[in-house]
Amino acid sequence: MENILVCIKAVPIATQSGAAEQTIQREKCSLQWNVADEAALEAALRLKSSAGSVTVLTMGPAKLADPLRELLGRGVDQAVLLTDPSLSGADTYATTKALSAAICALDSFDLILCGRRAVDGETGQVPPMLAAAMDMPCITNAEQLTKTDGKLILRRRLEDRSVTLSVSAPAVVSVCEYAYALRLPSISAMRRAREKQVRQLTAAELGLSPEVCGLKGSLTKVVHTDKKFPGLRSCKREADIAAGVCQLLELCREVGV
Ligand code: FAD
Repeated sequence: MENILVCIKAVPIATQSGAAEQTIQREKCSLQWNVADEAALEAALRLKSSAGSVTVLTMGPAKLADPLRELLGRGVDQAVLLTDPSLSGADTYATTKALSAAICALDSFDLILCGRRAVDGETGQVPPMLAAAMDMPCITNAEQLTKTDGKLILRRRLEDRSVTLSVSAPAVVSVCEYAYALRLPSISAMRRAREKQVRQLTAAELGLSPEVCGLKGSLTKVVHTDKKFPGLRSCKREADIAAGVCQLLELCREVGV
């Protein structure tokens, strides 16, 4: 594969996510890379040919410049941060619009990799929407990616089995979180990465007006969230099966299942 782009999203650290919030204010919370996106990045680094390149792209707050630079120490060739206050609160439609505009402005890519879903929004819609916007085929839930004779061979997870298929470039592929563990950077690579630049893009540079960005440009709005499982985290291991079943039924009644 020559040029590969990986969409990587920063998500709130799980224990800090505000369950009762309609939108996540990413500037204010501690963030980490979505684990499925790390798997997608490792797949890209393994697929990259000697003449090829791996670019990472994230849409998020300006504070992601440093974590992106760290990825340059893991073998990424170019890191791009799409950051602009007008982009915040984006639903999957507005997110896809911004990401596809950035991808088109950057280069032509043989392969676009995403995580299969982000652990905060969890819609899994961005990869197929991105493929539609870029007029590319989309394969979701890939758990193994290899290349043979210039073709990408994918093992795709289904509910009760997996299928192997091949796809011609260019394509969009979403990767399962358990597929690959992201490699660690070496100390010398980290030192070199500190000298490298993270490319920053704004909405205006991509020709995106405030009306089509973020909350304003979103077709869906989260109007209310409920904390559905109040007692779940404080549950204890129950050795007595009958007592455990009773507790489970009580919990089901509590949450209205
Ligand atoms: P997914 O589609 O699950 O992400 C899949 C992959 O796309 C990621 O692994 C990553 O590779 C890539 N990707 C996604 N976002 C980015 C990014 N910012 N930068 C780089 N790569 C990215 N929006 C809706 O349209 N419908 C809803 O029902 C909805 N419900 C929500 C509920 C809550 C509680 C919250 C907080 C948000 C909700 N959103 C919803 C908004 C949604 O989280 C954002 O639009 C988000 O930017 C994209 O959706 P996702 O997190 O579901 O991504």
